[in-house]
Amino acid sequence: MERVLKEFFGYTSFRPFQKEVVSQILKGKDCLVIMATGSGKSICYQLPPLITKKTAVVVSPLISLMQDQVMGLQQRGIRAEYMGSAQTDRTVNSRAENGDYDLLYMTPEKACSVSQSFWTALLSKGVSLLAVDEAHCVSEWGHDFRHEYQNLDALRPMLPKVPFVALTATATHKVREDIVQSMNLQDAYTAISSFDRPNLFYGVSGLNRTATFKQELAREILKDVGKSGSTIIYCTTIKDVEEVVDALQKEGANARPYHAKMSSTLRTEVHRAFSTDELQIVVATVAFGMGIDKPDIRRVIHYGCPKSLEAYYQESGRCGRDGFPSQCWMYYTRSDFAKRDFFTAGFTTAVRKQAVLDSYAAAKDYCATVKCRRSILLKYFGENPTAENCGNCDNCVRPGGIQYQNLAEEAHLLLSAVKVCGGNFGLGVPIDVLRGSRGKKVVDNGFDKSPVHGLGRGRNQNWWKSLADQLLGLGYLKETAGNNFRLVSVADKGDQFLWSASNMGLISSLMLPINQEMALE
Ligand code: ADP
Ligand code: ZN
Repeated sequence: MERVLKEFFGYTSFRPFQKEVVSQILKGKDCLVIMATGSGKSICYQLPPLITKKTAVVVSPLISLMQDQVMGLQQRGIRAEYMGSAQTDRTVNSRAENGDYDLLYMTPEKACSVSQSFWTALLSKGVSLLAVDEAHCVSEWGHDFRHEYQNLDALRPMLPKVPFVALTATATHKVREDIVQSMNLQDAYTAISSFDRPNLFYGVSGLNRTATFKQELAREILKDVGKSGSTIIYCTTIKDVEEVVDALQKEGANARPYHAKMSSTLRTEVHRAFSTDELQIVVATVAFGMGIDKPDIRRVIHYGCPKSLEAYYQESGRCGRDGFPSQCWMYYTRSDFAKRDFFTAGFTTAVRKQAVLDSYAAAKDYCATVKCRRSILLKYFGENPTAENCGNCDNCVRPGGIQYQNLAEEAHLLLSAVKVCGGNFGLGVPIDVLRGSRGKKVVDNGFDKSPVHGLGRGRNQNWWKSLADQLLGLGYLKETAGNNFRLVSVADKGDQFLWSASNMGLISSLMLPINQEMALE
């Protein structure tokens, strides 16, 4: 194994898990490989065919990714080729059947549509393994579900005795179970490396959307980015990309956009300039994603919270692959989450809908927490971080620690307003009542006559929503699913709190942490 590793790849030793996985594959065992991006998963399936001289079939989601890998392998003198979904190239087909390839890449559609006679021909020459890259795409619980991945279990009977190897960089417990089940992995050897990236600093900043905040943000980013270090700024929309680039360029920054509406020539040019350090900052949508393997990216900044914590982990994880200290910052506003309740309407299955809601909730918790951000990330991926304080995230290094404040009065007001609205509305209405709104819903229902109307004017809407989140988390409030949005009502614990206030004239102290959003006030 070491000899082949050295001969073809020039590496002198294995990275953690690589040797174990390769050995298990050589023994004919199925494998589940969950290792962080950049940790060297590819070697796990690239080495066995070079040792056994039998073709490895690799299923991968994107043609562009396959092209990159195939080119890299060919340059090392390895016989690699790919079959696209609209494959017309007969020679690849017949050469493949002839056993002429060490590695044969194909899309999931292709893998599911080639004939049994193709597999039979390939099998007669020998197949060392079938690898499924980005295996989290098989799961409806995953952040990147793809229908084409769901039929891969059909390959099992076509390739008897061939070890199946599933690889991914992000998988929660549910996703892992789905991968094993839908690929029908048998007694699989499982290699899971830690999701912790100790050299990455995690930080979150709340944003107030004032008229000039993009310019302020640009200045703040530049203060931090300084004169050196490659930086990616991810935005959630193309419009945001354009505006942020504009703001940065006005401040004299070396920044360019990257998104799907640009021509592929222009995108390639931006990618190239970034790779060669001619360009310092790329402001991009998620289109700037897979296939970026620049090791010395120093910062990944998110302008707006991504749609899941998996996506955030994967995107932010593109920095610091060389192991040097690097920063992951997120700027978010509450409106990043507000739009999302509606997006779930388009999902057909209940599982898919719940999965999307769960991952939104996790991303939101990550933003709102006053605890260690790293530990939230690690717990999400099923790890048990030992340290309470990682010493390398904004919450853990905050001078003086987390600030707490007695918010009993405010909690009392909010619970009362929710009570007034009778559990028939989302959070917006009771907060409008507190803030003295005379909007249609407030007036039509007579809530403007309520004694709490206008008593919460001193705080803005986000502040109240942030408090509501905390009260939901503590069980003072509860939410139930309505038709289009969630309805909020007072839970038992909240009722007790209100009861003791009105019957004993006593509002007990309620010490709550001041999070990012509340601190913005
Ligand atoms: P992943 O698929 O897990 O994201 P890759 O397989 O692309 O990671 O590998 C990431 C980088 O690590 C590549 O540049 C690769 O050349 C390098 N690499 C992989 N294995 C080794 C090894 N044993 N020794 C040194 N470098 C390695
Ligand atoms: Zn921490």
